[in-house]
Amino acid sequence: MTPSFAIIGAGPSGLYAADALTRKVPGARIDVIERLPTPFGLVRGGVAPDHQGTKAISRQFSRTLGKEGVRFLGNVAVGEAVSFEELKQLYDAVIIASGAEVDRRLGIPGEDLDGVYGSGAFVGWYNGHPDHCHLAPLLDRPGVVVIGNGNVAIDVVRVLAKTPEEMATSDICAYAAEAIAAAPIAELTMAGRRGPVEASFTPAELGELGRLDKCRVVVDASALPAAVGDVADSDRAYKEKNLETLHEFAAPTDDGSKPVSLTLLFHAAPVAIVGDSRVEAVRFERTRVEDGRTVGTGETFDVPCGTVVSAIGYVMSPIDGVPMDEGRGITANTDGRIAPGVYAVGWAKRGPSGTIPTNRADSIAVVDLIAADVSPAGKPGGEGLNALLAERGVRIVDLNGWNRIDAVETGRATGEHPREKFTTVDEMLAVL
Ligand code: NAP
Repeated sequence: MTPSFAIIGAGPSGLYAADALTRKVPGARIDVIERLPTPFGLVRGGVAPDHQGTKAISRQFSRTLGKEGVRFLGNVAVGEAVSFEELKQLYDAVIIASGAEVDRRLGIPGEDLDGVYGSGAFVGWYNGHPDHCHLAPLLDRPGVVVIGNGNVAIDVVRVLAKTPEEMATSDICAYAAEAIAAAPIAELTMAGRRGPVEASFTPAELGELGRLDKCRVVVDASALPAAVGDVADSDRAYKEKNLETLHEFAAPTDDGSKPVSLTLLFHAAPVAIVGDSRVEAVRFERTRVEDGRTVGTGETFDVPCGTVVSAIGYVMSPIDGVPMDEGRGITANTDGRIAPGVYAVGWAKRGPSGTIPTNRADSIAVVDLIAADVSPAGKPGGEGLNALLAERGVRIVDLNGWNRIDAVETGRATGEHPREKFTTVDEMLAVL
């Protein structure tokens, strides 16, 4: 008997798991079930549109989807088209790879004011994610504040700061490119609640901010320590490079040629979003870091703005029947094991951390456990799912369907853009 696997989610962690299963479980039948008609998860909907080099990994993921024993079942929402319990009955093992796609809340007054967005929604908007393509964020004032000191915060400020020429080879959606180009953005602020040494952004991403055509980076030299001090050996190299770059940014070289400023604020914890119905400012409390933890000083100050993007992390969208670790917003799992025959990989397993390649090692480790655990019980697998979905009239988008959508998207791109995405499921289904 050959074992059957359902993987929920066709993003990096799910596709690395599918690939590992083909290698480690001979004859495995693997169904990669995806809510959207399009695969690749955050590679399509999260990775910044101007980071095409990162997106090139999707070629490798395409090869995985084309492998013997692997099927792509797009446009199949678990919880709607089929339940998690049904998948458990149908397959020898179910692997949850649905990521963490809900914006973590700031938990401060005013965060529901107009003009305040979570980075998942905001990034999804400029990346044409069907859940967020209608966001139409307010970008009509000079000030924009991005909260968070991670790589997502950097992505957001960079995309907002770039000129259309700098975005020419990106796959940003045309509507977002137009909205950003027309926006009167002049004062960008990126704020971290801890210090420059504690920031989680990485040197390559930080360095890019120093090479923007119309935007200069402003850093208060007095906020920067001379050295990173006592940090873990594994973090030392990247933190030292970050600090070196920040010192370069803090050195006064402004010749007045760049009209947009990007101020990097440190030790600034958001305590309120100020405004009546629309955001007018973010109120920050100055902090100091003690033993790596943020301690408020009681001193507050406001940064005026018309738009706020909070880039402070994500939690998982719960799946009915899957036990959750509510505090962390991920599945309740131990090293990827949730229950007999149920596993998690990627951000659903460990939370929103790491780069795409981090998921490779992580998924391989979980597949090693699965390969040791699995004992095929003659379950119906994909044939059972086919029958169920046919009965329910669900329109599956298979690999050929995705390839068709892909071809039409790339074919309709203008200029040097590699593709112009379809942003609604209806548009995608219409080309099939
Ligand atoms: P992240 O690196 O964890 O950064 C989250 C930021 O939000 C941190 O600065 C954190 O501060 C801050 N934060 C959390 N809660 C907060 C609160 N209540 N108030 C104020 N600030 C708060 O996460 P991310 O930027 O969302 O990125 C997710 C993962 O994707 C990361 O591993 C990232 O490296 C990766 N990624 C990589 C790339 C790339 O390689 N180019 C691009 C995008 C994303 P504290 O540190 O104080 O908690």
